[in-house]
Amino acid sequence: MGKVTGFMEIGRAKQPYRPVEDRLQDWRQVMDPWGGEELNQQASRCMDCGIPFCHQGCPLGNLIPDWNDLVYREQWEEAIERLHATNNFPEFTGSLCPAPCEGACVLGINDDPVNIKAVELSIIGRAWEEGWIQPEIADSKSNKTVAIVGSGPAGMAAAQQLARAGHSVTLYERDDRIGGLLRYGIPEFKMEKRMIDRRMHQMEAEGVTFVTNANIGTDIEIESLQQEFDAVILTGGACERRDLPAEGRELSGIYQAMEYLPMQNHLCEGDDKPSDFIDAKDKHVVIIGGGDTGADCLGTANRQGAASVHQLEIMPQAPELRAESNPWPEWPRIYRTASAHEEGVERLYSVSTKRFIGNEQNNVKALELVTVEMKEVDGRMQFAEVEGSKIEVPCDLALLAMGFTGPEKPGMLEQLDVALDVRGNVIADKNWMTNVEGVFVAGDMQRGQSLIVWAIAEGRAAAKCVDEFLMGSSDLPAVVKPISC
Ligand SMILES: Cc1cc2nc3c(=O)[nH]c(=O)nc-3n(C[C@H](O)[C@H](O)[C@H](O)COP(=O)(O)OP(=O)(O)OC[C@H]3O[C@@H](n4cnc5c(N)ncnc54)[C@H](O)[C@@H]3O)c2cc1C
Ligand code: SF4
Repeated sequence: MGKVTGFMEIGRAKQPYRPVEDRLQDWRQVMDPWGGEELNQQASRCMDCGIPFCHQGCPLGNLIPDWNDLVYREQWEEAIERLHATNNFPEFTGSLCPAPCEGACVLGINDDPVNIKAVELSIIGRAWEEGWIQPEIADSKSNKTVAIVGSGPAGMAAAQQLARAGHSVTLYERDDRIGGLLRYGIPEFKMEKRMIDRRMHQMEAEGVTFVTNANIGTDIEIESLQQEFDAVILTGGACERRDLPAEGRELSGIYQAMEYLPMQNHLCEGDDKPSDFIDAKDKHVVIIGGGDTGADCLGTANRQGAASVHQLEIMPQAPELRAESNPWPEWPRIYRTASAHEEGVERLYSVSTKRFIGNEQNNVKALELVTVEMKEVDGRMQFAEVEGSKIEVPCDLALLAMGFTGPEKPGMLEQLDVALDVRGNVIADKNWMTNVEGVFVAGDMQRGQSLIVWAIAEGRAAAKCVDEFLMGSSDLPAVVKPISC
């Protein structure tokens, strides 16, 4: 523990962000780099608890008190070693993780938790700047081959771990660039894509082969991968989108978030603007769904120059502080403001969309909303419409950001005939293997729509089991288990 009295003397400071008026003019990351004395002080707030609950809060089991202490002591190179011991891509989590570790931080019982995520981001930022991150090439090759399908954080983490264990790894991706939802879902202003490219170059040097524009199950039969490789890992995510079958859904001007966001992300990559580009410029935008995806649509719409943006949430507004039924160290279900919310929005809670109203050109022009409240009906809690609560909001672009219902079944999964759970996710046994011998699964495809930190943790864990399957034993680390175990 660095400074014994740090947690008593120093309050939690806020990660610096670029001013709203500046960041709305471009697509660059909204966070400013943070380092120096102030960050050092933030790290010194860590109490190095006897039982560090933050370890348990972080799905990767990040060794948080260790690197807080090392940052406080200015031992940055040791800090990145400790961080990389459990996390392949701290720049992804340091930029994007909702930080369940902070919800579990012991200091959070009666004070603000330690700024864990910000310290993580500063360590990895410094490490890249100093040139401490180099390819880690395996000393010897195993002559075993592994195919990984899907290049999101789960596939990337599994690929890096297995390449470092000496296996020949080929990572297949149906998109034209690797990264999964990090690449074409999450906007540039939340995480600049050069961070994925930088890792890709490191992994190429470590021996990973990337094959893009390859849709397995369509362009290439999954069976041919099973024949060609000693093991296969499925990390295809949970890309099946939830729809809103309300009256007027067929009108034009209504899109899924994952139709909208990738187009802007392609533009930010320097690709040509397609003729059917979905542009929020001068439009009244309504985003249906109050989560991360909705916030990403919001930041994108504001940067494109939307006339107004409403974001709708069916749940009531969360409390400012934890409710009694939500005690520490559980994830705090409290009111949160993402950086995109600071940039301009009207957030409406406890509302449900009754219908989309069209104009003469069959384009959406408004949404009819009603207020809803939770009521017990036949012993089950349901949303019930509040009588007389109907309102209309203007809308010429509606974006559906209501989550995902699980992995896509046609193509690869149907060809493999893998067993699915009741939610439609792929079942893994305790060794991350599906019911098909030699075929493993990790990430959202196994867990359902989740978080980057879980995807990395699962990719690492599956890699260990694949290494064991191929070699009989493994020295690779793993912390998490499949949800079915
Ligand atoms: C808009 C948005 C914002 C988000 N923001 C956050 C956030 O801020 N923080 C956070 O922690 N999480 C966030 N998430 C969730 C997070 O992105 C996912 O949980 C995570 O990316 C899952 O990783 P994965 O590797 O399992 O799958 P994915 O990232 O979904 O990657 C799967 C990849 O597999 C490819 N693929 C699928 N099938 C095939 C096939 N048959 N052949 C070849 N390739 C295939 C897909 O094209 C995709 O590239 C967000 C999600 C969305 C949609
Ligand atoms: S990965 Fe997420 S949960 Fe883990 S230490 Fe970083 S911010 Fe916390």
